Amino acid sequence: MSRATQAGRLPADPMRPVLDGRDVCLDPPATAQVWLGTGLGFSDVAVPGVRLARGDALVAVESAVLGPDDRRAVAFRGGVTPPVVLGSSAVGRVVEADDHARAHDGRRLRPGMRVVWSCTVSCGRCVSCHRGMTSACASVERYGHERTRRSWQLSGAFASHVHLRRGTTVVVVADDVPAAVSASVAGTSATAAEVLHRASSILAVGGVPSLVDQVVVVSGAGAAGLVATAMATDAGARVVVVDPGEARRERAHAFGAVAVADPSASTGSHTLSRVLASVDRSGRHRTVGLAFDGGAAASALVDHVAVGGVVVLGSVVVPGSAASGTGSPAGGRTVSGGRAVAGGRDVVVAGGRLAEGLVTLTGAHDAAPERLASAVAWSSEAWRRWPLESLVGGTIPLDEVGEAFAAGGAGADADDGLIGVGPAAR
Ligand SMILES: [Zn+2]
Repeated sequence: MSRATQAGRLPADPMRPVLDGRDVCLDPPATAQVWLGTGLGFSDVAVPGVRLARGDALVAVESAVLGPDDRRAVAFRGGVTPPVVLGSSAVGRVVEADDHARAHDGRRLRPGMRVVWSCTVSCGRCVSCHRGMTSACASVERYGHERTRRSWQLSGAFASHVHLRRGTTVVVVADDVPAAVSASVAGTSATAAEVLHRASSILAVGGVPSLVDQVVVVSGAGAAGLVATAMATDAGARVVVVDPGEARRERAHAFGAVAVADPSASTGSHTLSRVLASVDRSGRHRTVGLAFDGGAAASALVDHVAVGGVVVLGSVVVPGSAASGTGSPAGGRTVSGGRAVAGGRDVVVAGGRLAEGLVTLTGAHDAAPERLASAVAWSSEAWRRWPLESLVGGTIPLDEVGEAFAAGGAGADADDGLIGVGPAAR
């Protein structure tokens, strides 16, 4: 009303942009933990208001998740530009929304709706977006990664509120799903869903993506690997989990793994080949390998899949290992184009294996909007069947984020577990 009145009095200025949006004042102000880029120094910043542009929304964070992505950001500045509000995976409630803000299912976003959102903001117009590869959008921006700026101060989830921009996939979540489950969907479950989707699409029989009766090898029993194990099991697959940690292997059983293998074992019953032989004697069903360990085991997975199999590298990047690809590949049959890089770690495969074995080696980074939606749908039911809540080990108050980074270690060997980050203690 007042805006319209004021606009009527002002002389028309063709150079003046027409601002379509609304100012939202926050009292008390929103707060954000800003990482300054030096050591583990975080600064508590108050944000008294935001301007929502067309299609934007403001959400109050119910719970965020501190995961491997955030630890890598702090340890290696991987993809982030300080000063930055970290945190890319969370659940919250809409506080205010522009009239044009929509959920993925088309519903208009309204105050009170409980939502999760994609890790990325994409334009929806570039070539990559038109091909459905929103994470490769020409102008992609990521929650928890971008340098804080006046027009987007609440850009990460380690804050009381997050400013969701147009181009973000927003999915409505039911109230009864535990916060720990919903908060980890964007960063963990959606990635697992994307990796599985890549595999099942390539295996599609008669055009129908399916994992029914397939043997899926999951390498890396971190949160994403365990969720992928549960998802694949629900999809009718038998899952074998490979991880060097005995406790992590044991845990995989609770997420549906029918068998586990130790990648460091060269003999005995724990070797992957022995385990696979016990699960699938014919060898014809070992069609899928999923690598969530930064590519360390991808070469082995390529060797173990059956004819026509597919190996997908998840987006878990292991920086600092760029020099690790110097070992000569087994068989030494690396051909031009036979090397792929996963976060600096080389994956060496024999070209003949791909050609003669009809093996597909591919990767996935972030999740397409449909996969975020399917991951929300899956987790909304699956948390009752699988211990998804246990993947988040405790919750800390927002203002203790710096200490959590210090305690969790940093670097390639850091704990890859998830920690909940709640609003500041009141
Ligand atoms: Zn785009």
